[in-house]
Amino acid sequence: MKNDRRRIRIMKMTIGGKKVDARNGKTIDVYCPATGEFINTVPAATEEDVKEAISMAKRGQKIWNGIQLHKRLSILRRFIKLLDKNKEKIARTLSMEQARPYAQNLADVINNVENTLPGYLDVCRHHYGKTTTPGAYEGKEHDFQVIVREPLGVIATIIPFNSPVNVFLKKAIPALATGNSIVVKPASDVPLAMIMMTDLFIEAGVTPEAVSIVTGSGEAVGRWISTNPEVAGISFTGSTRAGSDIIKMSSVNITRCFMELGGNDAFIVREDADLDLAVKEARIGRTFNAGQICASPKRYLVNKKVCKEFTKKLIEELKKVKIGNPLEGGIDMGCMVSEKAAVNAVNQIGHTVSQGARIVYGGEREGAFLIPTVLADVTKEMDVATDMEIFAPVFPIIEVDSDEEAIEIANASVYGLSGSVISCNMKEAIHIANQMDTAQVVINGQGFYGNPEIPFGGYKKSGLGREGIMSTMDEFTQEKAITFRDILY
Ligand code: NAP
Ligand code: MG
Repeated sequence: MKNDRRRIRIMKMTIGGKKVDARNGKTIDVYCPATGEFINTVPAATEEDVKEAISMAKRGQKIWNGIQLHKRLSILRRFIKLLDKNKEKIARTLSMEQARPYAQNLADVINNVENTLPGYLDVCRHHYGKTTTPGAYEGKEHDFQVIVREPLGVIATIIPFNSPVNVFLKKAIPALATGNSIVVKPASDVPLAMIMMTDLFIEAGVTPEAVSIVTGSGEAVGRWISTNPEVAGISFTGSTRAGSDIIKMSSVNITRCFMELGGNDAFIVREDADLDLAVKEARIGRTFNAGQICASPKRYLVNKKVCKEFTKKLIEELKKVKIGNPLEGGIDMGCMVSEKAAVNAVNQIGHTVSQGARIVYGGEREGAFLIPTVLADVTKEMDVATDMEIFAPVFPIIEVDSDEEAIEIANASVYGLSGSVISCNMKEAIHIANQMDTAQVVINGQGFYGNPEIPFGGYKKSGLGREGIMSTMDEFTQEKAITFRDILY
């Protein structure tokens, strides 16, 4: 239902502090997936617009990095205050364009304001360089060296639709704090709250040329960003397919790529598991954001001795999930980001059924709403058991004979983002965790346990590099060694 064209409102991009349309006037419509209502339009940037934002950012970076660190940090603290002041508006806009329940979006912004972002700023102040040990080499006894950290330059941040607040802020804040400039490219389905947040940086006092946001299709804007020699680093979160394209395109300029990509995470339930805990964590992991979380459990590898019981309890648990309009209170789950995304998930379910699986709960779709769906009789030969990521509230259950088989299936995927082990035996659980080819394992919990301190990323095709308070400052800076010849006694 694409209605309401008469109430047309035109949101603009921000390039170098100016609110602008695309040079050719082209726009993209933004709809609320829950109601089908038209919300707004954003510009479909041209190649010239993207070029302008990047060369502006190149100049802006020098100005921004010329400001003393303590002053930059004060400006970013002002940004955090503005984010706090605007949290309801941002959360409401996100709920409209992206369809996650309002309370969850609000909680995301509050958590960033109170915990995550101040954490990045604190660490940035203590992101030290190094010195070498004088006298370590014959003939160089009188020389002294310092190793300082410098920003990369222009960092392009390409953001997915599913977790825009967290993904955007954990790139933008450390990038700016370490003296880089940013060019933001939001997902076309979810650009509105991202424009609002980007504008708050300028309102807070960040050099306007150092922060721009360009809207438009990933294929076009993503290509213009990835091939631009003035971009020093690309911090991308999204699908492995797009990530691989970006790496290929940007390789001509040896641009640094930081990649947070797809996953097909295993959720291993041992025969000794607390099944109530297992189904609760499975439900949280797979219904939060309607299953559209990179590190949510996507394959359920359950020991045959408890598989029937787990499936029965899971269905009971899923019957309690309240689904509804994301702007209404008291709901657990909204809809998917678009009807197209829901249809795609239904097709993946159908494909798995054609390979021999059975739908034992759910499966119904209405518009962008998909009822949580449980698939039984999934076997390790099926696509969903290895590399077919379903980005939706779908629970493919694979019965396994042993821990060894669970580990074998868990590792038989091109992905390696996160994983879970549910067990009452810590020795066995740790043994399994150690054998999983993933960058994260959660024991007795679902896999997207979010703690901004830990290095978040992926093994194998799930990513390159790590994000988080411990890692991003290193990745967004480069080391320079300065040698003082003959200055020591
Ligand atoms: P996506 O299609 O790859 O889109 C992500 C972003 O990249 C969007 O801004 C998109 O723009 C842009 N894009 C699309 N194709 C591109 C291309 N060829 N070159 C450059 N940019 C391009 O991913 P999605 O559908 O939004 O998100 C789902 C995927 O992201 C899943 O695989 C999920 O696991 C993964 N993800 C990973 C993490 C992580 O931290 N590892 C976190 C969240 C999501 P348009 O919107 O205009 O297409
Ligand atoms: Mg997409």
